[in-house]
Amino acid sequence: MSMEKGSLSINSENIFPIIKKWLYSDHDIFFRELISNACDAVTKLKKLEVMGEYSIPETDELKVEVIVNPEEKTLTFIDNGIGMTADEVKEYINQIAFSGAQDFLAKYKDKASEEQIIGHFGLGFYSAFMVAHKVTIETLSWQKDAKPVYWESEEGTDFEMGEGDKAERGTKITLYLNEDSYEFSNEYRAKEVIEKYCSFMPIPIFFSNANAPVEEAKEEEKTDVVDAEVSEDGKATETKEEKKGPKPINDPNPLWTKHPNDCKEEDYKEFYRNVFHDYKEPLFWIHLNMDYPFNLKGILYFPKINTEYDSIEGTIKLYSNQVFIADNIKEVIPEFLMLLKGVIDCPDLPLNVSRSALQNDGFVKKISDYITKKVADKLSGMYKVERETYEKYWDDISPFIKFGCLKDEKFREKIKDFILFKNLDNKYLTMKEYMEKVKPADEGVEVAEVESKDEAKDENKEVKKTTIYYVTDPVQQSQYINMFKDAGMDAVLLTHNIDSPFITQLEQSDEKLHFARIDADVNDNFTEKVDEKELEGQKDSLTKLFRDALKNEKLDVKVVKLKNEKVSSMITLSEESRRMQDMMKMYNMYGMDPSAFGNAETLVLNANNELVKYVLANETGDKTAMICEQLYDLAMISHKPLSPEAMTKFVERSNEIMVLLTK
Ligand code: ADP
Repeated sequence: MSMEKGSLSINSENIFPIIKKWLYSDHDIFFRELISNACDAVTKLKKLEVMGEYSIPETDELKVEVIVNPEEKTLTFIDNGIGMTADEVKEYINQIAFSGAQDFLAKYKDKASEEQIIGHFGLGFYSAFMVAHKVTIETLSWQKDAKPVYWESEEGTDFEMGEGDKAERGTKITLYLNEDSYEFSNEYRAKEVIEKYCSFMPIPIFFSNANAPVEEAKEEEKTDVVDAEVSEDGKATETKEEKKGPKPINDPNPLWTKHPNDCKEEDYKEFYRNVFHDYKEPLFWIHLNMDYPFNLKGILYFPKINTEYDSIEGTIKLYSNQVFIADNIKEVIPEFLMLLKGVIDCPDLPLNVSRSALQNDGFVKKISDYITKKVADKLSGMYKVERETYEKYWDDISPFIKFGCLKDEKFREKIKDFILFKNLDNKYLTMKEYMEKVKPADEGVEVAEVESKDEAKDENKEVKKTTIYYVTDPVQQSQYINMFKDAGMDAVLLTHNIDSPFITQLEQSDEKLHFARIDADVNDNFTEKVDEKELEGQKDSLTKLFRDALKNEKLDVKVVKLKNEKVSSMITLSEESRRMQDMMKMYNMYGMDPSAFGNAETLVLNANNELVKYVLANETGDKTAMICEQLYDLAMISHKPLSPEAMTKFVERSNEIMVLLTK
């Protein structure tokens, strides 16, 4: 046959090193490019049929095939789409594809080393040369009397083309892999990559291994028939007879492309399981379906977070016309939504630009705002219409919502009135409801009002602050919880890490609000009104006794008369000091001695308690030091976990004390 020869209009010496370096991290992208070209070719054929220009023979099953040949180290991509005429190969492959690559490079050459390009869209067919030293195209156009074309190129610099012998409509592209890319002819490696990029491409993709023994293929057939029997409702027998053979490895009609009205609850759950391999059911989901002013479809799932130790990191997969682009592109999806799991398909995204350009793209911002709005609408709608359900999910969704409030002003505005606080009776209340509930209960005593000295001075006006007490660990702080309950007081549970920055934000946005942990101070409600002088004397004696017994000269002691005489000792830590300590922990600065930041913890002793009275009356008694140590440890236990050494001592001492009981 007569072969036309030519030189491709690029300078390979310049281009290859750059492209290779650039795409180094995702060498596997050529799978996506070649398979999506193949899908496009089939889609175009379908369009021709719709337009009445072509009639697809009934026996044609429109599909894409990918065949690995690990022995010959080749990969073949076959489609029965529109194919190409010789002129089209010249125009699209010889010129456009390569000049496209050249444009692409010219545009990004300067940034190539620093910037990761999303998608590498536009590189297309050319990406085959990232992994192959030789590529051949065999193609036959759909057009009447078209002649088959054969094309081949070594290294992507020179090509030869002439008449081929392809008898069926469509295109077959074969890659002869470079030695350092042999891995892609491995069945499992290839499948892994195809599943990553092509799981939802719109045309059925069939995958096979040219070297696989025939036995195996038969085995596959059998399982398929069984699958068909159980999965197809009613049409099982029909399927059995007609659709023998392998199944496509993709789902050409993913759930997000369907209308929400056509999707059942089980469909959403199954899709979630398949895509995210999370066998915990999602709590609920949002089906995004928008055509105007931009095209966006997707499903966002609120995952169930089982324990506080579970990572709450999600995955949002981004697609463009069912072609996978990347996970978690933070320029497109608001950061706080990354805690969700989901898929978003937005064909209008300008994905062939650099990430920094995406960041400043007004359109991208609009998409991100739209998603935020939809999520906020779903949540507020649920609060208004299904409050019970909303409360049921609250513990799981609250970290996400609070994170959203911290990260996204717009989201916070929309959701702030629907944030719930769980109180000591395990009831869920909004801040407004909580305030209404606790205030009239004892005419404002319960919600202690304190003056904010600093701010009031600054602005020359007095701001009455309302203190909201909170619990971070209901087990450890149970002593305080009981005292609160006895006094008819309430507090809210804020047990997640996110709560600490979250309440800081609440305080900043409302100067009347002040949060204090339940053990920040001894509340006036718990104590008797007393003669301060009398307590002052007791305080001096007790301070000396406890400092000596504990060998801690810095120990801070406070004496009060608690209404409940059974309580002997407590530890309080002022809200400010505790937040400071938390912050230090967060910044990992606690290699330093925390006492360097002032004496933070205070030992509170109840002068009404029998043991405290005993200590005061027996300053030199031989059991006094032991009682002091025990009272201190008992108070500490309700405040934070003891160190291993302290715990050992505490247990030993408790045993000794019990021995004393037997004497
Ligand atoms: P892009 O897909 O971004 O346009 P490519 O380099 O991947 O760039 O492809 C260039 C052109 O070659 C395509 O637009 C298409 O017209 C043609 N082409 C590529 N692959 C096929 C195929 N499998 N079947 C038919 N035409 C194809």
